[in-house]
Amino acid sequence: MYQPVIGLEIHLQAKTKTKMFCRCKNEPFESEPNSHICPVCYGLPGALPVPNKAAMEACIKLALALNCSINQETKFDRKNYFYPDLPKGYQISQYDQPVGYDGYVEIEVEGDSRRIRIQRVHMEEDTAKSLHGTSGDTLIDFNKSGVPLIEMVTYPDFQSIQEVTAFAKRLRQIVRYIDVSDAEMQKGQMRFELNISVKSDDLPGLPDYKVEVKNIGSISVLEKVIEFETKRQSELKSRGEKIESQTRGLKDMSGETLYQRSKETADDYRYFPEPDIPPIHISDEQIEQLKSQMPELPHQRKARYLALGLELEQADIFVEDKVRGDWFDSFLELNSEKEIVKEAAKWMVGDISFKLQDPTSKVQDINEAIQPDDLLQIINLLKERKISGAAAKDIIAMKFSADKRSVNQIVSEENLIQISDDSKIEKFAQEVIDQNAKVVADIAKNPSAIKFLVGQVMRLSKGKANPHKAEEILRKLLNT
Ligand code: ZN
Ligand code: MN
Repeated sequence: MYQPVIGLEIHLQAKTKTKMFCRCKNEPFESEPNSHICPVCYGLPGALPVPNKAAMEACIKLALALNCSINQETKFDRKNYFYPDLPKGYQISQYDQPVGYDGYVEIEVEGDSRRIRIQRVHMEEDTAKSLHGTSGDTLIDFNKSGVPLIEMVTYPDFQSIQEVTAFAKRLRQIVRYIDVSDAEMQKGQMRFELNISVKSDDLPGLPDYKVEVKNIGSISVLEKVIEFETKRQSELKSRGEKIESQTRGLKDMSGETLYQRSKETADDYRYFPEPDIPPIHISDEQIEQLKSQMPELPHQRKARYLALGLELEQADIFVEDKVRGDWFDSFLELNSEKEIVKEAAKWMVGDISFKLQDPTSKVQDINEAIQPDDLLQIINLLKERKISGAAAKDIIAMKFSADKRSVNQIVSEENLIQISDDSKIEKFAQEVIDQNAKVVADIAKNPSAIKFLVGQVMRLSKGKANPHKAEEILRKLLNT
């Protein structure tokens, strides 16, 4: 049996106002082609690049969030290659003094925690975008040229698709939490390159080759490529064939790959220091300041929720979906008693989330539909047995149908208060006993028959009887 050995390179477009080395707007999408360009990002000879401080800080922030050490003396280098979307003939990148190095990310796969080591995090510029026409012509849009790009490289620490997926999702969460990138894959803001080889289960060390697959734009395609390459390479190996290091491209979105060229090495790029940008010093103060601005990270948030007694699944939902997580945190500011919190989490991942994902809901935004205080009132009414669970569901549904009334207003105007008046419930109970002689006769042998009778009382009262009271009264009347 063969096992995959996988490393990732990930490019992230940083969320800055302007580009990496000029003051053109960083707005490569939904803009008229070539509307945000200047001699710097256009690659004209003699244009001088000036590094963007905000982009550098985004890179340092990400490196810190990935537990990297920071190269306080850093610099830019030219990575030389020719391509029509790179008219300078080189990309300004970082070679031997990346902003960050030697970090790690913790991921969880099937309940086990694993550490994926980060080799480096560096700053570079994106290229322009080629638009291939149907008649063989190619147009180039330079809006994307010079967009700040953060590249990070992992060690070959992944052994399964699940690990890669967990890592990619965790990384996307982290960059969104620290707000350095929106990481929207369909916009190309987060892109993957895969290094994959296979080895026998029993062999120590790493394989003597690696296959690189470039330009993977989504996690699902990434998964398919890993599956395809693991199978392809395992078959070659089992036939005794030697696999050479190579670069492959996607055939289509199916995960199938095609040979492109034998792999280029760092030497092929003839890296040398960028003469137009002086080395950059990152001070202790700057690092401390960025550290102090660091928000709570996903794994920290998850640990906090688990300590509050939330289920793993609930914690994961609030960590993954920052909007719901932030809403839940506002609830915690109102009330953080363990029982109330558990109840709130239950309603959040239950009815509230259901309504949020329901396309027929009039209000799609949780903050517009329902306030943390509304849920707290609902939970208190339930706790005091003033309303039934069914009524609570109704109130939530009304909130999502753009009902602007307060919880109390809804409860009184819709007549949702439970009947706790003994004499009224007793009347229903007696009627149920009279109508169900057979069940009543059976009750000694079949104790769960009481639940059926309670159900009948609820039906008669149109759901408004307090079910605990109803059972109590039934038992009293039946002497059980
Ligand atoms: Zn420009
Ligand atoms: Mn790169």
